[in-house]
Amino acid sequence: MKNIMISNVRVESAVLIDWMLRFASKIAENKEMLTALDAAIGDADHGINMARGMEEVRRRLATYADEDLGAFFKTIGMTLLSKVGGASGPLYGTLFLRMGIASAGKSELTDGEFAAAFVAGVDGVRQRGSARLGDKTMVDALLPAMVALQRALEEHASLCEAMEAARQAAEEGMKATIPMQASKGRASYLGPRSIGHQDPGATSAYLLVLSATEAICQAAHSDAIAKPRSTG
Ligand code: ADP
Ligand code: MG
Repeated sequence: MKNIMISNVRVESAVLIDWMLRFASKIAENKEMLTALDAAIGDADHGINMARGMEEVRRRLATYADEDLGAFFKTIGMTLLSKVGGASGPLYGTLFLRMGIASAGKSELTDGEFAAAFVAGVDGVRQRGSARLGDKTMVDALLPAMVALQRALEEHASLCEAMEAARQAAEEGMKATIPMQASKGRASYLGPRSIGHQDPGATSAYLLVLSATEAICQAAHSDAIAKPRSTG
């Protein structure tokens, strides 16, 4: 196996706050794009919904201090549940509430614990919305990302490398929604007319995975600088 230069990341609240702030910025930057995607196959509110929710998350995180990661994820989940609305509010809310249950009582997650929390979150989305791969929903980005993350960690990749694999899988999954016909949510009312448009929820889910990748790899690099490890 090749030498991994990047040190293990301590996935603690600072890293997760960075994840959420990056996600809030990306949602704000892409608000119009997400809403335009939803205008094509839905009701033109996905960017508005997500931006409203993530703006509130940003506001709450400005004074956030609890070290317990269960409480952290619960705060994010409850905020999205109460502020986002639509189909995506309860789904993203569930994702974070389940990550919170998986992280309860911990102030730091190992690579495997982070992956397990993400798996619990994605499973929650699948249970709540009962969407499967190919239904043209956020699951088409989240599920491939989850599988890629697990597989990469099994092959002893660092968490940063594993997240990069997850990001790529989420991007491919997002793009793969273009030729799909929607069979869940509002877009399904369009039948075959939903074909040819990228799913808005898969797009915001890609931004979520991209933000996590950036936050984790940034932490991995600064850890490597702070305490260099011998690789020989
Ligand atoms: P609404 O459809 O109520 O207006 P949003 O526009 O905020 O809600 O979110 C739409 C997105 O929600 C879709 O693009 C899709 O990815 C996701 N979605 C809808 N229904 C489901 C479902 N049952 N399971 C998973 N994701 C879903
Ligand atoms: Mg909508």
